[in-house]
Amino acid sequence: MKILVFNCGSSSVKYQLIETQTEECLAKGLAERIGLENSLLTHKPAGRKTVCHKKDIEDHDIAISRIIELLCCPDYGIIKNINEIAAIGHRFVNGGARFPVSIKLTDEILSDLYRAVDLAPLHNPNHLLGIEACRRFMPATPQVIVFDSAFHIQGMPDHAYIYAIPYSYYDHYSIRKYGFHGISHKYVSQRSAELLGKPLENLCLITCHLGNGSSMTAIKYGKSLETSMGYTPLEGLVMGTRSGDIDPAAVLKIMNLEGFTTQDMLNLLNTKSGLMGISGISPDMREIIFESKQGNRRAELAFKMFCYRIKKTIGSYAAVMGGVDAVVFTAGIGENSPEIRQGCLEGCEFLGIVMDYELNNDVNASGERDISSKGSKCKILIIPTNEEIMIARETVQVLTER
Ligand code: ADP
Repeated sequence: MKILVFNCGSSSVKYQLIETQTEECLAKGLAERIGLENSLLTHKPAGRKTVCHKKDIEDHDIAISRIIELLCCPDYGIIKNINEIAAIGHRFVNGGARFPVSIKLTDEILSDLYRAVDLAPLHNPNHLLGIEACRRFMPATPQVIVFDSAFHIQGMPDHAYIYAIPYSYYDHYSIRKYGFHGISHKYVSQRSAELLGKPLENLCLITCHLGNGSSMTAIKYGKSLETSMGYTPLEGLVMGTRSGDIDPAAVLKIMNLEGFTTQDMLNLLNTKSGLMGISGISPDMREIIFESKQGNRRAELAFKMFCYRIKKTIGSYAAVMGGVDAVVFTAGIGENSPEIRQGCLEGCEFLGIVMDYELNNDVNASGERDISSKGSKCKILIIPTNEEIMIARETVQVLTER
């Protein structure tokens, strides 16, 4: 089956066409700077040259119609016509408790997705633009919605997801922890079980998705028991530009000091904080590490804070699961930075987590691998994430099983 996977952001649309029998990516690409100057559409058919289109892309409709054209075009295409696409799978950041599993799109589901816009105001509206465009250009093709929140909503017990504020806010307004990056955490947990040669149902895993946005999950016997992001992706770890955990009283104090509106404050916490806010240099971990090695004290502080919060979370997750069989690193920082992996796990030997520093630092190594030392009770795995494959798998499952 050929599944077209979309991840629609505010000014970008990422896509992959996946043959699910072999899990081969037939083509992938990115439309970027949608609605801005210098829009660009990059399309890469497997085994062939990348094609770059520099025409204006005014909106998501135009982006998706051009992507479909490229997929079907005789020169760079992969298919003869859109009827070869069995279904479309969309990433959707937060569907709330109404959507604990992936679901096939209907008119009724679409209305419910519009009602969930407030649960991820920076992400959900863009996913809806993509869904609407696909309905327009491929009206006969089934669409499946795969939620980043679903893995956590299925797994977390109420004592983990309810905030200790008056219960009525949960009851009336659904204010609770949802958790994100669920598609990625689920993918790497399944791959970990395969690599370790043990059933997922017997394993306690701590998965660390460390990218521009970062989150960790405690996965006990295949279920998300606890995760670091919360009602929104702002809670938890130190991120590129997001603060992660902070005392709400400090937030209110800053609002008073600066005369900020809630939008101003959200902006500060989402876009001016994290690595960027601490270092004053960059949200990009490569620059933070480079500057830190040059002796920049604030870059060094940002680096230490990033690792410290991860280490603190590892300790608490090992405690709530009653042990840990593997710590798994994924995403841009987790997959590529030996410095960060070492910074997070140094001192965790008492938990049975012992790193092989040579393996961790091996610049020639890539892909899935185990970097724990021979005697380590807990394995340390690096697993490149693949959210697109996971979305394609879920799409097939929804269409065939449910
Ligand atoms: P996104 O959340 O946007 O998908 P990614 O998973 O691509 O983000 O991760 C981006 C982050 O990964 C950036 O902070 C970047 O600096 C970091 N990164 C990529 N390669 C390296 C590397 N070799 N060393 C350290 N950090 C890296």
